[in-house]
Amino acid sequence: MFNDDIIKKLEKLPTPFYYYDTALLKNTLEKIKKITAASKFHVHYALKANSNAKLLQIIRSYGLGADCVSGNEIKRADETGFKGENIVFAGVGKSDAEINYALEKNIFCFNVESIQELEVMNDLAKKQNKIASIALRINPNVDAYTHKYITTGLEENKFGINPYEFDSVISILKNLPNLKLIGLHFHIGSQISSLSPFKKLCQRVNEINKWFLNKGFDLAHLNVGGGLGVNYHEPDLESIVDFEAFFNVFKDFLKPRNNQKIHFELGRAITAQCGSLISRVIIIKKAINTNFAILDAGMTELIRPALYQAYHKIENLTEYSENKNYKYDVVGPICESSDCFGKAVMLPETFRGDLIAIRSAGAYGEVMASQYNLRDKAPALYSDEL
Ligand SMILES: *Cc1c(COP(=O)(O)O)cnc(C)c1O
Repeated sequence: MFNDDIIKKLEKLPTPFYYYDTALLKNTLEKIKKITAASKFHVHYALKANSNAKLLQIIRSYGLGADCVSGNEIKRADETGFKGENIVFAGVGKSDAEINYALEKNIFCFNVESIQELEVMNDLAKKQNKIASIALRINPNVDAYTHKYITTGLEENKFGINPYEFDSVISILKNLPNLKLIGLHFHIGSQISSLSPFKKLCQRVNEINKWFLNKGFDLAHLNVGGGLGVNYHEPDLESIVDFEAFFNVFKDFLKPRNNQKIHFELGRAITAQCGSLISRVIIIKKAINTNFAILDAGMTELIRPALYQAYHKIENLTEYSENKNYKYDVVGPICESSDCFGKAVMLPETFRGDLIAIRSAGAYGEVMASQYNLRDKAPALYSDEL
């Protein structure tokens, strides 16, 4: 990702900033487009991973839809050219204002996450004299074997409707004429690094799909969510995830009927690897068992390590060398001990002023930025504009 030419350009710029390799993003999207063309598969990009307007415009230009989890994400999707008919809206607690806005935009589908939400949505749709298309977000009780903060498909999670509630859902729906049930929605978690949870998901979807058909619901849409993980340890070896293997699981194990369309909501797998957080070393501080490399970027720019012990590869772009003989705790300047990007990171000897890249920061990086400590918002820069 970083050749000498790019590093020379980056060295001149004030830090910290997010750097996006738009060519890599385009190659990633091209791959998805190729695999899903002429199939029943349709991908909605999950804006919550990165809602940067320039990236969204690129993503939309490859024909993807938008998966939104807030009214403002729907607004951003709208502003960046996504049509209402290509927008889905999920979320465990949608406000009335958000639902009303989405109804006005005539979005494709609301993913409804609880029985009470069905009633709320019916009331709001009625007031606008509309019929809202909905999918039921179902909790399939499939373990994604990922970090506990990003597992969503287990019974104890707050997300989705559980199978023991299906009968009540069906009888309640009969009295809600402003809702039209068009599909089933599932999303079991994020950063899922093995394909077996997806196989298990397919089996559960098949069972549930059949159950609804037996009750007289021939639903046109099955939405299997997102969650495909990326290789944070070796971003250059796997700069584009193996989408072929991922989609093949659904080709092989999901049994849709002929009239059913399959929707995916990928976030991280699309944008993680094209982004890096670029920072400078402010201070090298020697300690007894380690050295601290204190950066001018911190958890305010990339909170994943502090929030869920996430690993990100760290590279010294200035002293780039294979001789990684020194151990550093690479930390940010924020007044929190958890503001640490990596402990005992092996780097070449590192000095004040060196340029540091924290890799795979394109998903859940910029979108989670905060102004804690009254920090400035770090800008975004793009490979095709340098
Ligand atoms: C977060 C989320 C996604 C995207 O997850 P990734 O792990 O980034 O692919 C998709 N669907 C829903 C409902 C989500 O909440």
